[in-house]
Amino acid sequence: MTEMGNGQAILRVESVRKSFGGINAVDGCTLSVNPQSVTGLIGPNGAGKSTLFNLIAGLYRPDGGEIWFNNTRIDGLPPYEIVHLGLTKTWQIPHELRNMTVLENLVLGAKHNAGEHLLNLFIQPGKVRQDEKSLRVRAREVLRATQLESLANEHAKALSGGQKKLLELARAMMTEPALILLDEPVAGVNPTLAGSLMDLIDRLRRDGRTFFLIEHDMNVVMNRCDRVIVMHQGRTIAEGTPASVKANPTLIKTIFGLLRPTAGRVAFQGEDITGMHPRDLVLKGLAYVPQSNNTFPSLTVLENLEMGAITRRTSPIPMPWNRRGTLPDRSRQMTDAQIRRRAIGTLNLFPNLRPKVRERAGALSGGEQQMVALAKSMMLDPDVLLIDEPSAGLAPKLVDMVFSKIVEINGKGTAVVMVEQNAKKALAIANRGYILETGRNRFEGTGPQLLQDPNVAKLYLGG
Ligand code: ADP
Ligand code: MG
Repeated sequence: MTEMGNGQAILRVESVRKSFGGINAVDGCTLSVNPQSVTGLIGPNGAGKSTLFNLIAGLYRPDGGEIWFNNTRIDGLPPYEIVHLGLTKTWQIPHELRNMTVLENLVLGAKHNAGEHLLNLFIQPGKVRQDEKSLRVRAREVLRATQLESLANEHAKALSGGQKKLLELARAMMTEPALILLDEPVAGVNPTLAGSLMDLIDRLRRDGRTFFLIEHDMNVVMNRCDRVIVMHQGRTIAEGTPASVKANPTLIKTIFGLLRPTAGRVAFQGEDITGMHPRDLVLKGLAYVPQSNNTFPSLTVLENLEMGAITRRTSPIPMPWNRRGTLPDRSRQMTDAQIRRRAIGTLNLFPNLRPKVRERAGALSGGEQQMVALAKSMMLDPDVLLIDEPSAGLAPKLVDMVFSKIVEINGKGTAVVMVEQNAKKALAIANRGYILETGRNRFEGTGPQLLQDPNVAKLYLGG
């Protein structure tokens, strides 16, 4: 691909800014996308990529700067006008469309995306029927082009994760876009479907479309993009061919770090882990149970546990973190059979889950799901387990059950750090407590000390 001058770019973003409260999510971002290219946008979490896409699609109005699509300035235009100009972003399939078929999704999705007014139904019912007919014709065409014909009458909710992504792309194609924005098209999609999705993008590109995509999967970025733009802290820090970006190790490090603190550092077992990737932290012995969405509802209990060891699963693609023999013991690869054995072993600590191993996690009670999340996090025998609000949303009896399980986990040699609203219960089992207020330590001491401190009692324990 030859570099083209700005005049020929299909999309130009110039010094665009957007802040939320004090956070400069997009901070003077300048970039351009060449027509008929597949351009990748990469960068660490929080770099501002999704915000930039929302600005381009018209969901947010920039605080400053300009966005040009072909020869039209589009910043500040409403989303449906941008869609009419030929620029579409893919959307997750909204709840209400999941019970409809793939075909209906295309027809209704197109109307919805194009910002059609319900009012037309009353003012011009004839026109709406006519539109509906031509939309159906168009939908059939799109289904053919995206090779989704065989799924036309399937309910959207019955599709696999990868097929849903195809459907999202198909829905975007309904509006005949020249430029399609895709936010992480292959995230969570199995490699085979990810391959066919990228093949489809390739074909559509040869038909004259342009793709601008956010992607974390370096395979996709390196093999499927003509040009890569690297974003960090709200602006472009590098761009070029995939090869030139790959050849820059400092850049790669920036890309794969997580949200970095602006100052200070985090040490774990004597090592500075500030900004380290979560996957590496897991391999170092630090596990984390988030407050919500901490299980995979459609997977069985056993599969959920197996996911806890996914970072050590033998990978067909050589990645730096699973190269054999170069990392400490904990990061050695495991086969699927070994992971399964580990999952069954981990269940010894969670006997209540044993009769439910084949049930979908989403079908379990809240307390049981919290147990699944804990069990999943114990799969790699962490030295330290971080738990965010383990009692959130649980009935009091279940809270006691979860807390006694945490004590048991701790008894087996794993240090536990938890965030908890229920200060009384948390402090009753804690060796040490910290009370934070507006981001600073306000009180600190042993559990009993804090429980007995009259100031703590007055402010945080309800008298
Ligand atoms: P990326 O997609 O690169 O991970 P985002 O664009 O999602 O990054 O986020 C950039 C920054 O803006 C982050 O610090 C994020 O927390 C913040 N942010 C994004 N959207 C909002 C919002 N609607 N309200 C407040 N802060 C937001
Ligand atoms: Mg994002």
